[in-house]
Amino acid sequence: MKNILLLVGLVVFVLIGLTTYRNSKKEKPLVVIMMGAPGAEKDTHSSELSKTLNIPHISTGDLFRENIKNETELGKTAKELMDKGQLVPDSLVVEMLFNHIHDKGYDLTGYILDGFPRTLIQAKALDQRLGKDYNKIALNLNIDEEKLIERITGSLICTSCQTPFHKINLPPKVENKCDKCQSNLYQRDDDTKEVLMSRLEVYNKDTKPLIDYYQKSNILKDIDSNGSKEIVLENLLKNLEKNKKS
Ligand code: AMP
Repeated sequence: MKNILLLVGLVVFVLIGLTTYRNSKKEKPLVVIMMGAPGAEKDTHSSELSKTLNIPHISTGDLFRENIKNETELGKTAKELMDKGQLVPDSLVVEMLFNHIHDKGYDLTGYILDGFPRTLIQAKALDQRLGKDYNKIALNLNIDEEKLIERITGSLICTSCQTPFHKINLPPKVENKCDKCQSNLYQRDDDTKEVLMSRLEVYNKDTKPLIDYYQKSNILKDIDSNGSKEIVLENLLKNLEKNKKS
């Protein structure tokens, strides 16, 4: 009887060990955090990465613009701050984003975050949400400051499908019309030189310290983002591949 009990105990022990080992080897969903100053083209590179990696691209700026379009209370609060190039309070951003991720079922697929986190409080809230259940990587798009103004002030977006264009670097085939859906293009209210200066100030004060934060967590990769869209994408993918192997 004693031997049987010992044998059962041993079998249970081995099974638990095997399950734990298998779970530890299972690939965790990937969360990519796109970092970089305003004008570093986080949106363009995030949507390219999203197609290649087949995981959703979530832009908190887009979520706010959707709220503004739908004239929600959140949209009204956000618009006032966005037009001045200031940040929306952390609690509102975190609640909006986490609800969106939950409602869309993105916890299971992993995702690319564009424009979040922008403060230390947001970064810590994200860490707390993800715990150890995700593979995290922060990709920091580095770009020369003088290029930022040219990029930002030339940016155009489709009013309907949100495809990004640029007056100089990526002009539409027909002036002011989207190549994909022929809707009109517009310039964001916060893409003027004055607002950019305020956005840069906010970036340097609140968001830049996150580079240090992610460096200390050992998940930061610096990406030279001065080249063409194709070269930057290649760089991003190389770093993701390296990260997978390490
Ligand atoms: P973006 O499209 O990422 O440039 O964001 C446009 C604007 O939305 C920002 O200038 C902020 O006013 C607001 N916003 C977007 N994401 C955040 C965030 N994570 N925290 C606070 N404000 C944000």
